[in-house]
Amino acid sequence: GNYTREEVLQMAEDEDVEFIRLQFTDMFGTLKNIAITARELPRALNNECVVDGSFIAGIAGEKEPDMYLYPDLDTFTILPWRPQQGKVARLLCDIYTPDGKPNERSSRYILERTAAMAEQKGYTCYIDPECEFFLFHTDDNGVPTTLTHEKAGYLDISPVDLGENARRDMVLNLEDMGMEIESSHHETAPAQHEIDFRCDEIRKMADHIMTFKMAVRTIAKRHGLHATFMPKPKVDANGSGMHIRFSLFKEGRNIFVDPKNPQELSEDAYYFVGGLLAHSREMAVITNPVVNSYKRLVPGYEAPTELTWTTNNQNSLIRIPGARGEHTGIELRSPDAAANPYLVFACCLAAGLDGIEKKTYPTKSSNRSMSESDQKAMNIGNLPENLCEAVEEFENSQWMKEILGKEFCEEYTAAKKKEWLRYTRQVTQWEIEEYLYRI
Ligand code: GLU
Ligand code: MG
Ligand code: MG
Repeated sequence: GNYTREEVLQMAEDEDVEFIRLQFTDMFGTLKNIAITARELPRALNNECVVDGSFIAGIAGEKEPDMYLYPDLDTFTILPWRPQQGKVARLLCDIYTPDGKPNERSSRYILERTAAMAEQKGYTCYIDPECEFFLFHTDDNGVPTTLTHEKAGYLDISPVDLGENARRDMVLNLEDMGMEIESSHHETAPAQHEIDFRCDEIRKMADHIMTFKMAVRTIAKRHGLHATFMPKPKVDANGSGMHIRFSLFKEGRNIFVDPKNPQELSEDAYYFVGGLLAHSREMAVITNPVVNSYKRLVPGYEAPTELTWTTNNQNSLIRIPGARGEHTGIELRSPDAAANPYLVFACCLAAGLDGIEKKTYPTKSSNRSMSESDQKAMNIGNLPENLCEAVEEFENSQWMKEILGKEFCEEYTAAKKKEWLRYTRQVTQWEIEEYLYRI
């Protein structure tokens, strides 16, 4: 680690920290926190802070509601948007049971376990994500809307890009918190933005994404805007994805690289792609976890629809970008930012490694969008059509239970089935418009 206990205490004192937020992520990728005063920090660093887990999704059972928060010292950082006198710091925490064992259903632990399994085989995974989001107006009561009067498109600049100042502020705050931001730009749809990170080690990157979402929402609010990571807020515009680029290192070398191959890609690179393709349907409810996720995955909006890999087709599930040498990576295009990054990264790493182990060669590549009949003729599959189908695939997957744990999978499945049921029972505006007059 980077920080010792003494250093954390010292930093808190030097920086005049008044409050510390102990943060952790629930099953569905929601960041939770409890704030303590600086006086209580030593107790927190002794792993003595407890929260009641009964109401935290997917973490503790009713029988053992006490969850112990074990702060990860390396995640100590000041929240730069809070007051600068009597500052607020945060620590990300692991969750432990009262008898001092890691909670096996905690998603941060699941990722740590998967990354450790990879390390045992000599692999270190680096991740480079791209997060897209919308900045919408709030109404007079401060309630978020899907309204914007922005008309900007891909890479547009001021004066049409009305989110420019908010985005700049976001990047500065994130850099202040120690995250390295590579670039940011206006995305294709009006009011849609993207911020890209510099790659980092897999678990750190999942932490970064949690921090990122918190920062983006907070800073947007300060600019009178509402930031949303909802995958498809508008029917007739692009949705927001969270593309993830993977690179895998062994003994300090990027193993996706093979200078002797005409494409400069190694066999392992193809196998990793093969593994992601092979497992993409059963892990779809992890990469695309909400009802709305599946409304993004339709043709015509630069979102992936077909289970193929490509170097340039936006509709492919997987793209191998042009960068070569140490920067060679594999991009999975399906995930959206509604997903829990710890779980997505764990599943994807496991899927890719499974491909390498089993030498799963990805046979289906595509360099143009295909019509449905082309797809049929070539026997090319699709991601699940909706949350219901995704949950079924997940529930029937033995492999998912191996990666995430049986209990986790059961609880997750039950929750997602309920979500689907709640959704299908709605009488929607579409139905009213379609049927009320005609029937
Ligand atoms: N917004 C698109 C999506 O839904 C991706 C656009 C891009 O290629 O960056 O995935
Ligand atoms: Mg993009
Ligand atoms: Mg990037």
